[in-house]
Amino acid sequence: MAAFTRVARAFKDSSAYSKLLLVCAVSSGGLMVYAESNPNNGTNGMEGSQIVEKKKLVVLGSGWAGTSFLKNIDSSLYNVQVVSPRNYFAFTPLLPSVTCGTVEPRSIIEPIRNIVKKKKGEIRFSEAECIKIDAANNKVHCRSNHDINVEGKEEFLLDYDYLFIALGAQANTFNTPGVMEHCHFLKEIEDARRIRRSVIDCFERASLPNLSEDEKRVILHFVVVGGGPTGVEFAAELHDFICEDLVKLYPSLHKLVKITVIQSGDHILNMFDSRISSFAEQKFQRDGVEVKTGYRVVNVSDKYITMKSKANQETSSLPYGMIVWSTGIGTRPVVMDFMKQIGQTDRRVLATNEWLRVEGCDNVYALGDCATINQRKIMEDISDIFKVADKDNSGTLTVQEIQNIIDDIRVRYPQVEVYLKRKHLRNVMDLLQGSLESAQGKTKELHIEEFKAAFEHVDSQMKSLPATAQVAAQQGVYLARCFNCMHDCEVEPEGPLRMKGSGRHRFRPFEYKHFGQFAPLGGEQTAAELPGDWISIGHSTQWLWYSVYASKQVSWRTRVLVMFDWTKRFTFGRDSSRL
Ligand code: FAD
Ligand code: MG
Repeated sequence: MAAFTRVARAFKDSSAYSKLLLVCAVSSGGLMVYAESNPNNGTNGMEGSQIVEKKKLVVLGSGWAGTSFLKNIDSSLYNVQVVSPRNYFAFTPLLPSVTCGTVEPRSIIEPIRNIVKKKKGEIRFSEAECIKIDAANNKVHCRSNHDINVEGKEEFLLDYDYLFIALGAQANTFNTPGVMEHCHFLKEIEDARRIRRSVIDCFERASLPNLSEDEKRVILHFVVVGGGPTGVEFAAELHDFICEDLVKLYPSLHKLVKITVIQSGDHILNMFDSRISSFAEQKFQRDGVEVKTGYRVVNVSDKYITMKSKANQETSSLPYGMIVWSTGIGTRPVVMDFMKQIGQTDRRVLATNEWLRVEGCDNVYALGDCATINQRKIMEDISDIFKVADKDNSGTLTVQEIQNIIDDIRVRYPQVEVYLKRKHLRNVMDLLQGSLESAQGKTKELHIEEFKAAFEHVDSQMKSLPATAQVAAQQGVYLARCFNCMHDCEVEPEGPLRMKGSGRHRFRPFEYKHFGQFAPLGGEQTAAELPGDWISIGHSTQWLWYSVYASKQVSWRTRVLVMFDWTKRFTFGRDSSRL
């Protein structure tokens, strides 16, 4: 028994198994996006006196950003406190699979305490929500999830030296009347469970005696508002669930079922390559899923969903049985309140600099869906860059002077890299070639005007990062690394030259690496947009999806559970019990 326990523990803690799976995934054509990383396997022990001296880090949120930070922070260096109203991490990309029972809810969640128990130092967790951030006094106000006395939920204050806001976002209703009351959202595990129950409810209600066929048709009309990746994936899952499983259990109802996807844009999946959106539209057409593009929902009542055509402004209403609202994300009230405090009122999300530090707050960082990086424009700094580069103060830049600063420019202004790729240029010297050739005099030195002209269009390539798990997870890893090597970087900065001021930045700015994205379309077919503008659609891409999502799981426990659920679904189909 003891031997078994030891083996089980070794299995749980070993990262070698992760690597093995990754190798399998890659060799089978899989793409590895996220590897299980746990640099801090070890005991929890930490002496009290040391904890007091350590800087206090408070992390708000246990989602993608918060959890990836926790997994990677060296907690022996800091006193870490996590606050989140849910004591687990949820693997959101598999939430649509939970709505139809392809995967069970518990298979895609990992208790935060499981994650932190593997860390060297102490990490404290409080199941509570942050109700106010008081950056002026370095405090966060929290309210416990639990009623512990007659006065209701306990409120408490936490002090911090550094605060990490990883609060994610909430569903965006665009203030459409009736949405809150009558629609389902798909953001949390509870939402997915409710949807699963509601789908089965509709089928059971439609099976009751004494209902007319028209009434049954209304009950079995499933509407998805939003043709983004989540809405499309849910519609595809629902179609599969109905056609593969429910058709056998409710044979008389199958022909009465209808799925409608309402999208305000001209195409569904419009953030993907046009080949993917047209493949998805054709597939849905073949499957009988109606796609209504160019419609904006203006009202939802208990029986009807009302929408307006963008083409002719005409309004029409559809009776429905169930609606899933998936039209993008909005700001959480606590984040909105904090933004007001620090004067970021005209924004949807918290603005940070390229090091993920909230603008206007020295010791507050924001990552994941609640934040966006306010990328610095190169043209705003161009005169300063010129001055820094012009070491001999000659008023011109020699080739050598330019070469000395190129790496710093590329690191400090990532849009340069994007621009070079777009223009098929190898490096910054290629970009400056035209200016150098037209430079006056034989010495080929650049004046400020020529230098400016070369970078004139570079800022056009700036775009904000998408609100995805990939971005959130990479930001968590990045910030943890910065804090882990804070001391070393104070002594030996690794960042680029400061274009204003002197010396170097301590750290390199955050750099996002895009590993591609998937759009599962049902019927064991998936579309993928992979790095290098590579598009892949079909059954083989579905296998790529399985291997990537298995390898991306945060623990071996959930990885095994998810793979077991998939096998169970292949063998026995999905469970249709209304639990
Ligand atoms: P979240 O993961 O949402 O975490 C926020 C955390 O903050 C949660 O733990 C929450 O409980 C906590 N919290 C909330 N309020 C408070 C409070 N007041 N105080 C303290 N804590 C609080 N991205 C991809 O890259 N690929 C995909 O395939 C993909 N599929 C998706 C499918 C669905 C159905 C959904 C909903 C999202 C999907 N995403 C996907 C997007 C991805 O889930 C988000 O971008 C990601 O979760 C953002 O991470 P986050 O840490 O910022 O926020
Ligand atoms: Mg010079």
